[in-house]
Amino acid sequence: MPRILITNIGEFFTGDLAEPIQAVQSIAIADGRIEAFDPPQDGYNVVIDAGGSAVVPGLIDGHVHPVLGEWTPAQDAIGWVGNYLHGGTTTMLSAGELHAPGLDYGALTPDLVTSLAVVTASTFGSQRWSGVKVHAGTVLLVPGMTEAHFDRLAAVGARLVKFLFYPLESHRDEASRYVAWARARGLRSKVHTGGVSRSGLSQICGYDTLSWLQPDIAAHVSGGPIPMSDHDIDRVVDDLSMTLEMCSSGNYGSGVRLVNRLRESGQLHRLTLGSDTPGGTGIIPRGMWRNILFLASVCGVPAAEAVAIGTGNTARAHGLDVGILAPGRPADLLICGPVEGSAGTTLSDAITHGDLPGISHVLTAGEIIVAGRSRQTPPSRLKPVMTCCGQGMPAAGTPTTQP
Ligand SMILES: [Zn+2]
Repeated sequence: MPRILITNIGEFFTGDLAEPIQAVQSIAIADGRIEAFDPPQDGYNVVIDAGGSAVVPGLIDGHVHPVLGEWTPAQDAIGWVGNYLHGGTTTMLSAGELHAPGLDYGALTPDLVTSLAVVTASTFGSQRWSGVKVHAGTVLLVPGMTEAHFDRLAAVGARLVKFLFYPLESHRDEASRYVAWARARGLRSKVHTGGVSRSGLSQICGYDTLSWLQPDIAAHVSGGPIPMSDHDIDRVVDDLSMTLEMCSSGNYGSGVRLVNRLRESGQLHRLTLGSDTPGGTGIIPRGMWRNILFLASVCGVPAAEAVAIGTGNTARAHGLDVGILAPGRPADLLICGPVEGSAGTTLSDAITHGDLPGISHVLTAGEIIVAGRSRQTPPSRLKPVMTCCGQGMPAAGTPTTQP
């Protein structure tokens, strides 16, 4: 694997909410990981002169709905995963694979939902897909499951289990057992919150249910698409301690309420982001950036903290080692800058104003997947220059796509 040096970095976003920006000017990458900050400047196969661009962790979409690889029947489209990569997302977590055509949500059985999760996971494998690390195999929990079902899910590398159609209030004991079984296998539990989803059959969930279920993550707390009541949002922030996810599919007013309350009480570490797509909201390759820009430009979250919420926070909540840029961590990162005509002079300025960054390079596990120009963003005003001294590197301006 080539050794890569990224130099002449203008701003360095760490993805760590505790220290979201650092004065790092160059980084060395080897064996898919960040080797060092501000290292010696020679001995590399590839040198990228960032030209004053920012380096940002690859974005982590905590809430997607895959079905079979690059195909999504939710909007009859192909190629969505690669398009999200060009929007800056390098890791995704499935929040359930419910869009299989013809699936009868009223007739789900333990074997069927487990098999669905296993099949979807198998269409992504354990490897990157189009440069994106997709964590699929998130089961849609139903009554009657046994520990053997959870064993099967853990064996295919699932990260999450999801309460969506599950009748929580009439099956409290069993639901609590599922949360414990998941934790015992290193799986996180996520629950649909708010009103009924596009399926028409998801369960309503607000403060009362969350308070006894105590899942690891409350999904799309500001709506996906319908939020819980304002009163419930306030109580969930004030009285509970679980991770709270905000999604592109939600209610803007509820989003402002949620984020302001978390910020004012010093609890932004609980906030994670996802797109909740593909689905009724559509396919949004730049959805994660739109979430971050909403936090910064509408909710008053400092730009670097907003980035950390969509990277380090989201990764940590799901038990992943990505999302934070530090020596030893995976080299999943974006090189980007303000678009011509954007507000301010730095990427922080642009994000604070709510302006989409221009992405020039995307690296996943130290591999250069996009080189020179994303096909999903306007070009950055800053123009990195890549010099290759090794073999097998993509030429600048010819982003790779499908495996
Ligand atoms: Zn969803």
